[in-house]
Amino acid sequence: MRLIIVGAGITGAACAYSASALGAEVTLIDADRPGRATAAGAGIICPWTAAVDDPAWYDFARTAAREYPALIAALADQGEPDVSYRRVGALLLEQADQPDQANAARQRLAARSAEAPEMGEVSLLDGAQAQELFPPLRPGAAAVHIAGAARVDGRQLAAALVRAAVRKGATVRTGAATLSCHAGLVAGVSVAGDLVEADAVVAAAGTWTAGFVEPAGVTVPVVPQRGQIVHIGLDGADTSRWPVVLPSATGHYLLAFDGSRVVAGATREAGSGYDVRVTPGGLAEVLTNALSVAPGLSQGTLLETRVGLRPVGPDIRPLLGPVRGVDGLVVATGLGATGLTMGPLAGAVAARAALGLPPGVDLAPFDPIRS
Ligand SMILES: Cc1cc2nc3c(=O)[nH]c(=O)nc-3n(C[C@H](O)[C@H](O)[C@H](O)COP(=O)(O)OP(=O)(O)OC[C@H]3O[C@@H](n4cnc5c(N)ncnc54)[C@H](O)[C@@H]3O)c2cc1C
Repeated sequence: MRLIIVGAGITGAACAYSASALGAEVTLIDADRPGRATAAGAGIICPWTAAVDDPAWYDFARTAAREYPALIAALADQGEPDVSYRRVGALLLEQADQPDQANAARQRLAARSAEAPEMGEVSLLDGAQAQELFPPLRPGAAAVHIAGAARVDGRQLAAALVRAAVRKGATVRTGAATLSCHAGLVAGVSVAGDLVEADAVVAAAGTWTAGFVEPAGVTVPVVPQRGQIVHIGLDGADTSRWPVVLPSATGHYLLAFDGSRVVAGATREAGSGYDVRVTPGGLAEVLTNALSVAPGLSQGTLLETRVGLRPVGPDIRPLLGPVRGVDGLVVATGLGATGLTMGPLAGAVAARAALGLPPGVDLAPFDPIRS
């Protein structure tokens, strides 16, 4: 079966990896758009703390987090030993003067961990213990520690998935693809003047998916939400095992990678359109929040600010699955603020759906052309 996948972010890369393993003849096409979300995403994998009352979303996100270690192990077996994934744990921070809230949060999360053992141990830490794990933190902040939380660099993981797909026979092309579709039947895509024919096309083009599927006469309700995120160098610090920090009050966060690098995120700018500028307001918002939680970052080095456009749907659920009324078209987008968590699973589900196999999850809640 000839399968074209449009978009090589985390979702399309995972789709190419899965589809190649299932024996499809895969062509993966990417236009290298400024604002690709995967290239900017923080990479926190910790869906259990989300204050979201949507069982379909939570089940999908939790399954995605649970399946990560197996994916990382499979990639290692296939010659990709380090894709930056690490279970570093997370600290859910409460206000220093609100120890009751920390205890309530611990109880809530411990209850969730009963049905999600991949969360690992959930424990209460005092300010000194929290600061020992993440030294720049302000003193005295009580925290709930979630041992199973992880982080991953989306750029590294997506690149590794693409390389693994290529080793299984996938072809990669650079360029902007246009969908070719006649009378409700997908023919392939045109790219750089060539028509590349296919039996099915997976639209994993992030926030650009809406425009990409237009020739099929359908509307996928995905829009961009800009996120500005700052990378800070802390010369000489071994940050490789520092946990993710999730202050309960703000929605902002901190995490760390190897190489003395701390990441402070992020703005959530609805209505941004495709504007990928770094703005003074965005930078101020991110840094003010970061320094109020971790004043020890103030003497670090500002390394870079990344800007990504999260693909956001009409609700928190993915837009995922075959498109009703268009033979051979599958959509995989709408992963919003948790796409680095859900992308590998969404890509695998899309691959199975495109190849006519059971997708492995109930796709009814994720209809990609719902409004
Ligand atoms: C600041 C920020 C922080 C984030 N933090 C986290 C986090 O901590 N945890 C988490 O789980 N998620 C996080 N996310 C969300 C996550 O990054 C995204 O949901 C995810 O990366 C979306 O991946 P994608 O592959 O669907 O889309 P994208 O990564 O945007 O990829 C789409 C690709 O399609 C290509 N494309 C578009 N149109 C065409 C075309 N016509 N032809 C060919 N190619 C095309 C683009 O070039 C692009 O490479 C964050 C996002 C941002 C912006």
